[in-house]
Amino acid sequence: MIISPRPGGGDPAGGSEMNDCIFCKIIAGKIPAKIVYEDEVAFSFEDINPQAPVHILVIPKKHIATVLDLNEGDHELLGHLFAVANNIARDKGIAARGFRIVTNCNPESGQTVYHIHFHLLGGRHMHWPPG
Ligand code: AMP
Ligand code: ZN
Repeated sequence: MIISPRPGGGDPAGGSEMNDCIFCKIIAGKIPAKIVYEDEVAFSFEDINPQAPVHILVIPKKHIATVLDLNEGDHELLGHLFAVANNIARDKGIAARGFRIVTNCNPESGQTVYHIHFHLLGGRHMHWPPG
């Protein structure tokens, strides 16, 4: 498997903050957010423009611009982000009903913030195919 370098500029050791990244600023407390969960490597907060009754973002504290910038060292982190999203879905009472985890990558997908994030969406019936 060919793993590309990290064009987003993140520090492979983790913990880097990108000066122009809104999500890094939220993690650093420089921009307010409704925090849902936080630990050493993961951060979660309510989306400012919710598309469903539950719309929560789950992100790594480490700046990674897109899923294309993930490397093998991030596998454990990714598993942890899914575990965090699952726990939040249970806490919010949408786990059994159903929910959606979405990650957009690059412009045609609709990615607007270049710090990877899971959208955790639930609380209403979801449509398929997505718009
Ligand atoms: P995407 O378009 O997939 O990159 O998703 C970015 C998401 O970040 C959108 O759903 C925005 O509503 C959300 N967002 C942008 N700025 C903020 C903010 N300051 N606080 C919370 N959510 C935000
Ligand atoms: Zn960032």
